[in-house]
Amino acid sequence: MIEVREKYLKILTVVIAVILTYIIISLTYTYSYRYEIKKFEYYSFYAVAFYILIITSAWFLMGNIVGSVIAGLSIIVTVFMAAVFQKWEFLSNGFAFAVVGLSLYGFWNKQNNEVSDIKIKSSDISESSNTLFKELQKENLLGESLDRKLLRISKLRVISKDIGISLTKEELIKKVIKNMIQIIQKPGVYQLYLLTEDMRTMELRGLNAYGVKSDDFTYFEKDDLNQWIFRNRQPVHISDLNKDFRFGRKYSSPAKSIIASPLISDNKIMGILKINNEKPEVYSIDDLRILSIIANLSALAFSNSQLYETTRLLAIKDGLTGLFTAGYFRQKMAEYVKQGTEKPLSLIMMDIDDFKKLNDKYGHVVGDIVLRKTAGEIQAIIGQKGIVARYGGEEFACILPEVCSGTAFEFAEKICRSIASSEEVIREDRIRVTVSAGVASMVPEFKKAGDLIEAADDSLYAAKEQGKNRAVLWQKG
Ligand code: GH3
Ligand code: MG
Ligand code: MG
Repeated sequence: MIEVREKYLKILTVVIAVILTYIIISLTYTYSYRYEIKKFEYYSFYAVAFYILIITSAWFLMGNIVGSVIAGLSIIVTVFMAAVFQKWEFLSNGFAFAVVGLSLYGFWNKQNNEVSDIKIKSSDISESSNTLFKELQKENLLGESLDRKLLRISKLRVISKDIGISLTKEELIKKVIKNMIQIIQKPGVYQLYLLTEDMRTMELRGLNAYGVKSDDFTYFEKDDLNQWIFRNRQPVHISDLNKDFRFGRKYSSPAKSIIASPLISDNKIMGILKINNEKPEVYSIDDLRILSIIANLSALAFSNSQLYETTRLLAIKDGLTGLFTAGYFRQKMAEYVKQGTEKPLSLIMMDIDDFKKLNDKYGHVVGDIVLRKTAGEIQAIIGQKGIVARYGGEEFACILPEVCSGTAFEFAEKICRSIASSEEVIREDRIRVTVSAGVASMVPEFKKAGDLIEAADDSLYAAKEQGKNRAVLWQKG
């Protein structure tokens, strides 16, 4: 723009110069005519030639219109004077003035240019500093989100440590919800759904609200969105449920913004992590990404916990009967006996009568079936009141914490009666077994678990001695 304007100004200068020259020549002509000065044409020719020479050189040298005009005017005046007074000195003096004037102007112009250069430079600097500032702002914004991302990543590392260790399912549920809230840090209702035992329905196991009043939300049992995630096995980001063509019509919920991610481990879906808010456009795609990472970590933790639980049970449960192992029984006995006699503690020891004969008659496979059935019957009678273990081959033990000797004896008799009255039909044979039981309870004299076990064992021996299929209670002395 500026360059174009300068170009036009230069052309204008030339035009003005030509007009001026014409005026000067006319004036010179008029004066020389009036004063009868000859050689006018000769001088005026020089005047024009010099004028054009100076104007062009000034223009090219200075690149400035004012410079050329000054130079041009001074030379015109000089030539005019020389022509009028017919004195060549005017011409040479005029040239000298023109050169000095031009140099001075050149110097002044240079200074000015430097100042304007500085001005241009300073405006350049302020412009680039502006750009830099904008860049910085952008970087800052980026930095902010980067900071947020870094913070989230470092929190993700914490969660992977936090839930990475073997935990029970219940502990995990609490920790996952807690970590979700800490990492996402946006208002909403944080939910954890887990697939139920029947593998068909999802149940809400963890729920927590962050920045939302507890009565601000409603939970819907029948959740179409969960079904959708369950079928599609992929995360969902909903900015505004009303505008979402996937769920808008059929899925009604007070929530507008929803992000959800399935818990998938080993290609099996085990649950869903979900966050929702009544306001639209609360969660970003980045939030969903983070939620998916949490979901992946959690799914792994849940399957680890399941594995841990299975292994733990494998170690403490007997493979044939499903009862606790003798090792677990001893460990628990030690724990309870250590507690002293403040609370009652009873023990029943049981042994199947003449099991050797049964094995001999029907074989070990049938023997195993009877063993499993007998174990089941004992477990059914004791239920949650005690710890039933397979103590030996066809021997069982039952710890009854907080159960006095009288009640324990009743339990033992009930077991004997129940087993004696039930039968197992195998190959058209009705197989019946009986058990003998020895019952003992904790007394101050018993210092270790072995003392109580020995007492119960003695009673069991007594029951066998007295004709089997009965319970005997241990008596002091
Ligand atoms: P008692 O009435 O005196 O107890 O007679 P019993 O024949 O039961 O004698 P004992 O308790 O000494 O015999 C235990 C038998 O139980 C020996 C073994 O053949 C059998 N047995 C032990 N463990 C198992 C098992 O896991 N499966 C089967 N089928 N039999 C077992
Ligand atoms: Mg035995
Ligand atoms: Mg036996």
